[in-house]
Amino acid sequence: MQSAPAIQKLLDELERLPGIGPKSAQRVAYFILNQDKGQALRLADAIREVKDTVRFCSRCFNYAQDELCEICASPRRDTRMICVVSEPRDIPPIERTGAFDGLYHVLGGALSPMDGVGPEDLRIAELMARLGAEEVDEVVLATNPNIEGETTAAYLARLIKPLGVTVTRPASGLPVGGDLEFADEVTLGRAIEGRREV
Ligand SMILES: [Zn+2]
Repeated sequence: MQSAPAIQKLLDELERLPGIGPKSAQRVAYFILNQDKGQALRLADAIREVKDTVRFCSRCFNYAQDELCEICASPRRDTRMICVVSEPRDIPPIERTGAFDGLYHVLGGALSPMDGVGPEDLRIAELMARLGAEEVDEVVLATNPNIEGETTAAYLARLIKPLGVTVTRPASGLPVGGDLEFADEVTLGRAIEGRREV
């Protein structure tokens, strides 16, 4: 079906979003067309605002609107524990479990020799600097349970253990090759509570 050029442009953009196929794109586009202008532009403004104001936390590299993210800035977090994740999107599922109240460190990816991603491409030097400067008892390696995540966890364990810091990994029970992002809360909470020293 041929749409008016402006509508086609919106459809093209919507179809680029994860999980949105042509049918969903069409549903969303016609929903937006049907909304009054103020309502529809709130979505456009929200997108503009996150792109203008959100940056990386200077301590853990989670998304933040200030120098520090909400988690690093909170006085209620246990600063002696750091949970290492690949991406900022891995943090909300872990937070929802309520099983972890320490701080995080976002690597910005996972080691993947096949794709040319080496240690220097991740925020590993920044993690090591934190372990040198902060008093940390335990590092939880919560990289995804797939090949890249396991490789990254093994690499970090070798690097961190000589510092005398306890290194743990969430217990198995997560779907193999699954992303933390999609793990259900109960399974993920149990995996974190049952974490084992590596
Ligand atoms: Zn932070």
